[in-house]
Amino acid sequence: MIIIMKSHATKKQIEDVISWVESVGYRAHPSTGVERTIIGAIGDKRDKEILQYAETLPGVEKTMPILKPYKLASHEAHEGNTEVSVGSIKIGGPEFVVIAGPCAIESKEQLLKSARVVKKGGAQVLRGGAYKPRTSPYSFQGMEEDGLKILKQVGMKAKLPTVTEVVSPADVDLVESYADMLQIGARNVQNFPLLKKVGHSRRPVLLKRGMMTTIEELLMSAEYILSEGNPNIVLCERGIRTFETATRNTLDISAVPVLKGLTHLPVIVDPSHAAGDWRYVIPLSRAAIAVGADGIIVEVHPQPEKAFSDGAQSLKPEKFYQLMEELKAITSVMKH
Ligand code: PEP
Ligand code: MN
Repeated sequence: MIIIMKSHATKKQIEDVISWVESVGYRAHPSTGVERTIIGAIGDKRDKEILQYAETLPGVEKTMPILKPYKLASHEAHEGNTEVSVGSIKIGGPEFVVIAGPCAIESKEQLLKSARVVKKGGAQVLRGGAYKPRTSPYSFQGMEEDGLKILKQVGMKAKLPTVTEVVSPADVDLVESYADMLQIGARNVQNFPLLKKVGHSRRPVLLKRGMMTTIEELLMSAEYILSEGNPNIVLCERGIRTFETATRNTLDISAVPVLKGLTHLPVIVDPSHAAGDWRYVIPLSRAAIAVGADGIIVEVHPQPEKAFSDGAQSLKPEKFYQLMEELKAITSVMKH
């Protein structure tokens, strides 16, 4: 932590700050410039919250942290980039990974049809929600364990690893017994008991950014999972809430290179929940691959017009095939 004194801070104020820094267990390293004095507070405790109190001391202008608040998620804790295995698929490696499927599992027939489309298009992982966190309590809430059973059967039949959302710590053991990857949705990104619980899971975690979380907060949520012992996390940018109403959320595409610069964890994009409208899903997916994402998660439904949830943003099979063709073309251009 660096404490910057006001330009007119008195000698006494500077001395008081130094004594206070030492009284809370840090070493103080003052450095006097022409204009002002800055004081470095050095200690090996990463939790420097107490030092923020310095901002309230007389003569102090502001304080600045030196270290990032997250450790295990940062590049300093891990050389190179992490590759996360989901079944036999690796996210974060050389291959751009597409996770696709319906928003919700509605029936065995619906998921089988979806899986055929996902497989035929060449996507690597099947998605489908059995526990749906809906804004309205009157909306379809998901098939729960019956849905998980369908997901497992269909995933095995289609030879696709699966990802599904878990919304409560009490359900983690059950969900991980059926699915290959656990999704923590936008609404649960700061559900700390849930983060801690999946931190003990043997399954990889798809951690979505919340609609009101900063990049640093997302990384702190990843840190909760990492610090409980689960190193297999894929981060997902899925749009944040802004003043713009033309799309469901605003895809923060710059989050991808920013995250890549800050963490070794893979980063994927969800263009479906960002846009809320299938017409923008292909353009946003192009942006995702071009900006350096490790993959995308997209909603695909055999009959979006009849979907129980998120039909407006779900791709029809033909549009999904078109997306996959375009991604192939972009991949080959990017290799040159
Ligand atoms: C979903 O993946 O269907 C979902 C609910 O996503 P999010 O948590 O990003 O809204
Ligand atoms: Mn959805």
